[in-house]
Amino acid sequence: MVETTYTEELIHRLKTGEISPEEHLEEKLDTIRSRDSELNAFITVTEELARKLTQKAAEAIKEGHGELFYGLIWGIKDNFALKGVRMTCGSKMLEHYVPPYTATPVERILENNGVIVGKLNMDEFACGSSGETSYFGPTRNARDPERVPGGSSSGAGAAVAAELVDLALGSDTGGSIRNPASFNGVVGLKPTYSLVSRYGLADLAMSLDVPGPLAQDAFGIALAMEAIQGYDSRDRVTAHRRLPFLDSLDSFDPDRTRIGFTEALLDGVEPAVRKATLHVLKFFESKGTEIVEVELPDIWAAFPTYYLVMYPEFASAMQKFDGLKYGHRVDGQTLYDTVARSRAEGFGKEIKRRIIMGTYISMAEHAGKWYTLALKARSMIQRSFQRALERADFLLFPTVPVLPFKLGERINDPVQMYMADALTVPANLTGMPAISFPGGWKDHLPIGVQLLGNHFQDHFIVSAVRFFEKEGRPWSE
Ligand code: GLN
Repeated sequence: MVETTYTEELIHRLKTGEISPEEHLEEKLDTIRSRDSELNAFITVTEELARKLTQKAAEAIKEGHGELFYGLIWGIKDNFALKGVRMTCGSKMLEHYVPPYTATPVERILENNGVIVGKLNMDEFACGSSGETSYFGPTRNARDPERVPGGSSSGAGAAVAAELVDLALGSDTGGSIRNPASFNGVVGLKPTYSLVSRYGLADLAMSLDVPGPLAQDAFGIALAMEAIQGYDSRDRVTAHRRLPFLDSLDSFDPDRTRIGFTEALLDGVEPAVRKATLHVLKFFESKGTEIVEVELPDIWAAFPTYYLVMYPEFASAMQKFDGLKYGHRVDGQTLYDTVARSRAEGFGKEIKRRIIMGTYISMAEHAGKWYTLALKARSMIQRSFQRALERADFLLFPTVPVLPFKLGERINDPVQMYMADALTVPANLTGMPAISFPGGWKDHLPIGVQLLGNHFQDHFIVSAVRFFEKEGRPWSE
C-alpha cells in the first residue's frame, strides 16, 4: 500500500515551502546536465525562460495562489508551439523555425504556474514508434540506454522516467504518448479526442491527433489534465466539457466496476507482456471487480485501417512545407525545382515514405477505394468497441505487444515497426481515452498495461490507475 506518490509528494513540498521552485529547477537542470548527453531527450533547453517562470511561480506561491503546478517542471514535445522558442518537430525542415504564437495546452500550462524547461525530442513529425527517426538523433530509453524509448514522444517518455522533468506534454495519433510511457515505465494518457485543444500542435493526422500528458503517476496525469482540458475557440472541434480529474481521483470503487477482457487482445503478445497484463487483471478481480468477456471480432482491422486513414491525412498536412514561406529551403532553377529540392533535403526517409503512400492512396483513381474503405472499417471498429463498452466500464490489455527493443533493431523494417502500434491505434480510431501505466517489469524493462474507456470517461480510467498504484503492485520476473 503506497501512501503518497511522486508528484503528490513534490506538490506538497513546493506548496508548503519545504523546497522553493528555484531550488527545484536547479536540481532538475543539474540532472539534465548530467544525464541528457546520453539520453538525448531534449532538442532545446530553455534555461533562461525556466528561471523567469520559476520566479513567477515563487511569487504566486507567496501570494497564496500557486496552483495548479506550484513550479513543477514541464518538458514540451517539440511539435507544440511556444512563442519565441524554436519548434523543430524533430525535422531538418523546421530546424530553424521559431513560431510567433503559443499552443493552447502550452499556454494553459504557463497560466497554471508550470515551468517549461525545454522542448523534447521526438520522431520526425511524430512519425515513428521508437524515437529513432528524429533529425536530432535518437533518444535512449531511460531504463536501458541500449534500447529505444518508444515513440513518437520519445523525449517525453525518457525525460519523465529519468526525472529530468516532472511532467511532459506529448501528442498521440496512434500511440505516441502511451508507447513511450510503456517503454520507459511511466504513466501516459491519450485523452478523448476533442477534450484537449490541438491549436498550436503540428498536424500528423488531424482526425486522430490528441495532446496529452506523461507523468510519474496518476496524480500527475490528473493535475495536468485539469489544466489543459476544455473548450478552445481556436480549435473548433474541442468539446464544451471539463472532466473532474482531481475530484474523482480517489473515487474508484472496484466493487462497482466491470472490466472487459478478451484473449483476442493478447494475440501475438510476448509472454512477459501477457503475464503482466493478466497479473493486473487478477489484481482488480481480487478486489471485487467483475471481469466480463467481450468480443472484438474486428480488432485485426485496426492496424491496417489506421495506416490507410493516417497516410492521406499526413500527406495533405505536409503540403505546406514547400520551402517557400518558411522552413528549409534550397533554391532551384524553377519554382517546382525549389519545392522538390527543399522537400528532398528537408524530410527524412519515413516522412517521404508516408507522403508517397498518402498521395498514392488519395490519387483520383483510388478515391473511393482505399480511404473510403478505411473510413467504413473505422466505423465498424468504433461500433464494436462501443458494444464492448456497453458491457464493461473499461477494457484492459497491453499497451505494446513487445518489450522495449534495441536501437537499430527495427528501424529498417517499417512493417515490424508499425506492428508496435497494433494495440494503441484502436483508441485513436474510436476517439476513446486510453491510459498506459507500469503493470510489470521483466528484469529492468518496464511493461505498460492499458485501460481504454468510453468517450469522456478519462477521469475514471485515471482513477483506476490511481487505485492500482495505491493498492496493487506491478508484476515482476
Ligand atoms: N507510431 C505511430 C505512427 O508512426 C503513432 C504516431 C503518433 O501517435 N504520433 O504513426
